[in-house]
Amino acid sequence: MSYAKIHLKTGKEESLNRYHPWVFSGAIHHAEGQPEEGEIVEVYDSRKNFIALGHCQIGSIAVRVLSFENQPIDEQFWIRRFEQAYQIRKNLQLIGAPHNNTCRLVYGEGDWLPGLVVDLYGNTAVMQAHTVGMHLIRHDLAKALKQVLGDLVENVYYKSEDTLPYKADLDAENEYLTGGQNVSPIAIENGLQFQIDWMKGQKTGFFVDQRDNRSLLERYAHGRKVLNMFCYTGGFSCYAMRGNAEIVHSVDSSAKAIALTNANIALNFPDDKRHQAFAEDAFRYLEQSGNDYDLIILDPPAFAKHRDVLNNALQGYRKLNALAFEKIRSGGILFTFSCSQVVSKQNFRLSVFSAAMQSKRKIRILHQLNQPADHPINIYHPEGEYLKGLVLYVE
Ligand code: SAH
Repeated sequence: MSYAKIHLKTGKEESLNRYHPWVFSGAIHHAEGQPEEGEIVEVYDSRKNFIALGHCQIGSIAVRVLSFENQPIDEQFWIRRFEQAYQIRKNLQLIGAPHNNTCRLVYGEGDWLPGLVVDLYGNTAVMQAHTVGMHLIRHDLAKALKQVLGDLVENVYYKSEDTLPYKADLDAENEYLTGGQNVSPIAIENGLQFQIDWMKGQKTGFFVDQRDNRSLLERYAHGRKVLNMFCYTGGFSCYAMRGNAEIVHSVDSSAKAIALTNANIALNFPDDKRHQAFAEDAFRYLEQSGNDYDLIILDPPAFAKHRDVLNNALQGYRKLNALAFEKIRSGGILFTFSCSQVVSKQNFRLSVFSAAMQSKRKIRILHQLNQPADHPINIYHPEGEYLKGLVLYVE
């Protein structure tokens, strides 16, 4: 099969020779023909050597590389990619295991599938396209996925209304590409059950990326008064309950999130009076009622989605953490996170450092946390690293 060709300016193949999987528009000398957004293109250096194959797109990233080998991008290609992604998760017992049936099966560049995210919740895969290229082949992808996962997956739900480039004007509908009749909206994570609303919930419905960090929290929860800020589905709250916390309070500004949290607590800990949830602004809640806790979790939404608002975001993290340091009891433990991709590990730590200085308390770092193995970072694509956290002991 032959694809449209893109020729790079002299020397602009350098980052691609280091397997960085993006071609920036400024690196392109010319295209043969007029490849449309979403089409597969071949990329050549100025000496006409083949460099890569990828999905063409409009914007500063002009090509997202699918392969550095010259090979057909056909059904077998997608099956091989999904197979590799599946094997990693299977090794970790995140798929088809009695205590775990939820994980991220595909994490974009981390699985050599740029522009694609797939989360598994029991027998449902929720697929999210971030590029036109992936959107156009969504039915083929669903088929390949089903072929690899067999009976493990009955439903493939496509949810890309909000993730595709706005300017492409695709009118993508959220819909089942496969199945949709036999849907069980309960995911099991480390033996805990969570009701997932992938149709109406945020992102694909659940934040599977905090699994390992929730497990760590469980080990610290015993006998503590826990405050889970930005609780969404109550993930951290359920682990704190199982870890024998004395009380667990969950806070989120969204009433829907609070309803989900209450439902998940009821599912796992029926009639347990240790838990209470509050629909309130996190800053206000901490300010007014934050004095009683000795384990606090701060897992806010991404404060910076773009580089130009980075400074505001860093101030946001400083302010939030300073408030927690001011309020947390002596001997308290703070789990604090940032999921903003544009905020580096270093910058996040500096914000927390400034907050610590402001509080003048003695603070130690106990753990430095990351995203889990089902969100693997392609070593040639450091941009894939986004979740960072610190566990701090506050005297
Ligand atoms: N910790 C969660 C994920 C958090 S997602 C988990 O483990 O799954 C971020 C959450 O922050 C969302 O549910 C959103 O409703 C909530 N949120 C955003 N701004 C807020 C604010 N100012 N105060 C409280 N909650 C807020």
